[in-house]
Amino acid sequence: NAKSRGRNGFQFFNQQIQKNAERNAELYLHVKSAISRNEFALYYQPIVNPNSGKIVKAEVLLRWQYKGQFISPDEFIPIAEESGFIVQIGEWVRTEALNMLTRLQNKQLAVPLSINVSTIEFWTDDLQQRFLAYFDNKQTEFESNQLPYHLLTLEITESLMMKQQDSISQLLIELRRRGVQISVDDFGTGYSSLSYLANFPVDQVKIDKSFIQKISMGARHEALIEAIVSMSRALDLSIVAEGVETQYELDFIKQQDIEAVQGYFFYKPMAADVFVDLLAKQAKLN
Ligand code: C2E
Ligand code: MG
Ligand code: MG
Ligand code: MG
Repeated sequence: NAKSRGRNGFQFFNQQIQKNAERNAELYLHVKSAISRNEFALYYQPIVNPNSGKIVKAEVLLRWQYKGQFISPDEFIPIAEESGFIVQIGEWVRTEALNMLTRLQNKQLAVPLSINVSTIEFWTDDLQQRFLAYFDNKQTEFESNQLPYHLLTLEITESLMMKQQDSISQLLIELRRRGVQISVDDFGTGYSSLSYLANFPVDQVKIDKSFIQKISMGARHEALIEAIVSMSRALDLSIVAEGVETQYELDFIKQQDIEAVQGYFFYKPMAADVFVDLLAKQAKLN
């Protein structure tokens, strides 16, 4: 009867919660040793010109191979954020990405790399100072490798822009002074007050894939993208459309004159060596 079903349902629900909690506790414990155990790797997802298909940029995406299985960053990043370990992870990611830039530069294959930054990395004044210091300590390395900062984009989210607006604006200004570009990731999904875009020193917006995936669902959804596009143009921001999977979506993006596209329609994220080979192949074709 309904009552016993209800209770079983409740038990099942309870067991699920218990299981999730155990899983999170396990990951929480192990994520701290992931760097020293060499369990992290960076994947690269090309960002292309929608008309030519040429790779103009790539997003750096973190992968964690734990007990022989890849765990999605959507699962472990929040856990790393909770433990604060995201700060070390962030520095590991940036170092690794800079090494990749050096490697590409040496082969004359360099394209700009776009790196995700967690809100937690900007949480306190100390962390903000640490963030900037990291780049300044790298300066010598940059210069000896002739690695220009303009090959780096940092992807931040709208939730970051909501907090400590003055100090974060200041930090972004400092980063941009060094040539680093700032991109607003997952644009439109957050608390999006349009005024943030106008007030914050940013260069680019990435239209979230949830908008792209609704392109075929009618004019109202398309109108939303058109609005984001015209607003970005008015603010002189460049645009990346994220999560383009179909020809239909691509055609719409082209109609909007959006200059850069990322999505499975072109490429999935790939391992470092595969990415370098792909760039080499592209260079040969030109
Ligand atoms: P994101 O920054 O919005 O990255 C884009 C995500 O969309 C990636 O998922 C990418 O694989 C996925 N994607 C790209 N094109 C398509 C498509 O056509 N269809 C679909 N369904 N998905 C597509 P991924 O690699 O699983 O990363 C998830 C999120 O984890 C990222 O979202 C980002 O917020 C976070 N993340 C990844 N790497 C890092 C990192 O190094 N540091 C920090 N703080 N966060 C990271
Ligand atoms: Mg991103
Ligand atoms: Mg995104
Ligand atoms: Mg995301």
